[in-house]
Amino acid sequence: MFVQSSVKQKRTWVRLMFDDDVSFNEYQVLVAEMPLYDDPLIGIMGEAGEVAELVKKDRRPGDRRREIDKDELTKELGDILWYVTRLAHQYDISLQYIANENIKKLTARHNN
Ligand SMILES: [Mg+2]
Repeated sequence: MFVQSSVKQKRTWVRLMFDDDVSFNEYQVLVAEMPLYDDPLIGIMGEAGEVAELVKKDRRPGDRRREIDKDELTKELGDILWYVTRLAHQYDISLQYIANENIKKLTARHNN
């Protein structure tokens, strides 16, 4: 299923996979039960670097360009989400609350 999303006035279609859908709350509970070996903040930075590498190579000019592998990008973005979730959990903030507050902030910003 696809839903329409408006980001910076640019309409995009976002695919939602309901077959194995997991809610923010379910995800946070699952992640919180997993072992944590690193500081989540450092983890976010490291994983952001891995995403940056993929995008950097995708944006290279000419023959040196390496087209981004969306499965690989999905995994790296998931790694960021995992660490964001752990950091939020350390401060007793739910992912659902973060999403709600972010949408409120962005809606208020773009409606003014
Ligand atoms: Mg990674």
